[in-house]
Formats: sequence, C-alpha cells, structure tokens
Amino acid sequence: NICVVGSVNLDLNSYTDRLPAAGETIHARRFTTGHGGKGANQAVMAARLGGAVALVARVGQDLFGRDALDHFRAEGISTTHVTPTEGASTGTAVITVDATGRNTIVVSAGANGLLSVADVEAARSTIESARVLVCQQEVPSEANRTAMRIAEQAGVPVVFNPAPVGAGVPAEAYPLASVLCPNEHEAALLTGLPVRTPDEARTAGMELLGRGARTVVVTLGAQGCLVVTRERVEAIPAPDVEAVDTTGAGDAFIGSLAFFLARGEDVFSAARRATQVAAISVQRPGTQTSFPRVAELSASIVD
Ligand code: ADP
Repeated sequence: NICVVGSVNLDLNSYTDRLPAAGETIHARRFTTGHGGKGANQAVMAARLGGAVALVARVGQDLFGRDALDHFRAEGISTTHVTPTEGASTGTAVITVDATGRNTIVVSAGANGLLSVADVEAARSTIESARVLVCQQEVPSEANRTAMRIAEQAGVPVVFNPAPVGAGVPAEAYPLASVLCPNEHEAALLTGLPVRTPDEARTAGMELLGRGARTVVVTLGAQGCLVVTRERVEAIPAPDVEAVDTTGAGDAFIGSLAFFLARGEDVFSAARRATQVAAISVQRPGTQTSFPRVAELSASIVD
C-alpha cells in the first residue's frame, strides 16, 4: 500500500481564440473540467496500476470537494484522510488556452493550504503501515516534514517530488527523501546548475545526493530519466513516441515509480517501468484522463 500526502485541485479549462485583456469579456470555444493537483494525480496513477492507495489531503465543503471525493472513491482510493474543510474552497486552477496553445493559469490553493501537522498526525498509522510515502510541495511544508519524519521512524521509504519548486526545498527535507524526484527545471533551480542532458543531470544529481537525498531520479521529458545513487548511475531513455499532451507526465511517472517501489522493486527497475507508463500518458490528451490502467499495459511493463 501507498500513502500520498498532497494536493487536490479541480482544473477549469477555457479554450479561446486569444487570451483576454484586462477588463475584457471574451467567449470560449470549449470548456472542460479536469481532476488535478499533484497529490491527487500521483495517487490516481498508483491506484490505476493496482496499488492500494490512501490520500492525505484537504478539500473544501463545496461542489468541487464532493466531486473530488466521489472521483477518488471511484478510483478505489481510500478517502479516510481526505478532510472536507469548512469555510475553505477546494483548490482550483483556472486555465485559459488560446488557439496557439499559449495559456494563463491562476491557481488557488484553497483547502490545500490548510493541510496541517494535526491532519498528518491523524494519518500516522496509515503512513507507518505504508510500503511507500509520496509527497510534493503543493501543501504546507510542515505537513510534509511531519509525514516524512513519521515515515523515516517507521522505516517507510519516501518519494519526494520537489514540485512546484517555488523557493526550493527546506534543507531538513533532503535527508528525509529516500528518492528525490525533480524534473529538469526543478533540478536546475535547486542546484543552480544547467540540467538539459543526462550528463548535466548526473552532476546535479550528485549535488543533491550531497545534500542528503539517498537516491535522485531526474526526469528529462522526452530524454527519459536519470537515476543517481552513490554506487551507480543509470540513464533510462524514454521510448520514441508522438507526444500530444505532456501535462501530468511527471505525475504519471511519480505515481508509477511509487507503485513499483511499493511492489518491492529496486529504484532502477521501478524507474524503467515508470518511464514506459509515462510515455503512454503523453500520447493522450488531459492529465488524469491520460493515465493508463493496468489492464491496458503490456506484460513487459508490469510483469
Ligand atoms: P514534468 O511533467 O514534471 O515536466 P517530464 O517532462 O520530465 O516531467 O516528464 C516525466 C516523464 O514523462 C519523463 O521522465 C518521461 O519518462 C515521460 N515523458 C515526458 N515527455 C515525454 C515524451 N515527449 N516522450 C516520451 N516520454 C515522455
């Protein structure tokens, strides 16, 4: 079983001819909603592969919160620790995409910003009994730190995705990360080094190991990922596919990585499989809508 501490958002997407100017009202050609939030995305990915997943999160006591809870139940995710929050709205991302694909995005953290140390303490036994804990940075860092400390004391490995990277990663968080999993942008920002190639990712990965992370996995988009441990470095190329929408690729990767680690595989094997799953997600539109279910995967990916 896998415990994910993290964010829940509803994405509200308007597709327009152009982006509106200040004070202007324009009409959208199309509107869609989508389930999002890095925590929710990673939880859904792990659940679709067959993982028993518990999510520790907050939603609002509003329509979006009720919808998110129904959605998690339909995905088979435990919602015992997804707390509806009085007086708070569910996290949202209000997105406008113009005809050329440019976008504006307004994120409202809402209830995600209220996830507390007490919430995480209430989920202590869930964390302690997990095979893997997964955290990102869309909820308050004290909540994350508490979860990672509980996991460490119980000997539960922690996958830490430092996204969004914002002001960086608190120094105390590095030694709590069994697997630190930044994308190239995050790795560059955390280290101040260029991270465009597997070679550059190796240097950045070594730097992050030096800060206390036990393993670093840098995702490199169409170039796959690089797994860096003190003993061994392995570049894992992504399959050559036609990408139509890479939104959520990182979350597909992390959710899959957590699932395969929880199944008992080493990080190299887990990262190879996660690379295959993420490559499927980029060939389909949307975020969670692009995440495959285990029944769709070839035996070479899951067996
Ligand atoms: P993020 O979504 O955080 O920006 P990346 O872009 O690094 O993360 O993508 C995460 C993973 O998704 C990559 O490591 C890779 O396995 C897969 N991926 C992303 N883009 C592509 C692509 N164009 N072709 C194949 N795989 C991809």
